[in-house]
Amino acid sequence: MNNAVKIHPAVDDGMKPAAAAFSGGTLSCACATHKVEVAIKGQCAHNHVCGCTQCWKPEGALFSQVAVVSRDNVSVIANADKLAVVNANTTIQRHACKECGVHMYGRIENKAHPFYGLDFIHTERSNKSGWAPPGFAAFVSSIIESGASPDNMAAVRARLVELGLPPYDCLSPALMDAIATHTAKANGVLK
Ligand SMILES: [Zn+2]
Ligand SMILES: [Zn+2]
Repeated sequence: MNNAVKIHPAVDDGMKPAAAAFSGGTLSCACATHKVEVAIKGQCAHNHVCGCTQCWKPEGALFSQVAVVSRDNVSVIANADKLAVVNANTTIQRHACKECGVHMYGRIENKAHPFYGLDFIHTERSNKSGWAPPGFAAFVSSIIESGASPDNMAAVRARLVELGLPPYDCLSPALMDAIATHTAKANGVLK
């Protein structure tokens, strides 16, 4: 195993399987006191590591770890006043703690967007085990935009494959197909 290439603390030492009948958990920010807390009902979907420059990453990680849940299953239960949207102009509005900077959930407000209704969360902010582990790596080439060496990309991709996280330079085929299907239906190409 090529442990020299660090992807993300949640995957570097291998991943734990999802728990059966997982009921959810509470995400906490990194503040020592007055933590922002977000309750998540049920299991997450499409968990993956993401190389884009927008997703929140823990210090030193090459990738973020990010999953989706229905927005109806997300509720801020403590210190909501510490949350602010990082950038209101992005498709996914990331609600972050103003003090520690951790992104607590990302929300799409555009009702026409293929992923409207889903919130983006970082399951590592919960101390519960049993969340569905990442299944692929998205926007791998984008880590270069955050300063990763282009010369190291072959090693990064090889490590992702070794971990069972097929690397893609956009989203996974299943999610790209979902986006295209949504667009085709919106345009009347597909019924
Ligand atoms: Zn905080
Ligand atoms: Zn991302």
